[in-house]
Amino acid sequence: MESKNCPICKKNSKEEYIPFCSKRCSQIDLNRWLGEKYHISVNEDDGSNN
Ligand SMILES: [Zn+2]
Repeated sequence: MESKNCPICKKNSKEEYIPFCSKRCSQIDLNRWLGEKYHISVNEDDGSNN
C-alpha cells in the first residue's frame, strides 16, 4: 500500500479523511475552492453609471 499525503499540510492522510489527514484539512480545501470561486465572481463596482 502506498501512503498518501494530505494536500493541505502534507502530513500522512487518514483513511477516513482521504486524501486529507483530518476533517479540518478537508474543510480548508473546500473553503479554498469556494474562496477561489467567490474571488473570480467578484465584480468591482465603481459606480461609474452616473
Ligand atoms: Zn492535513
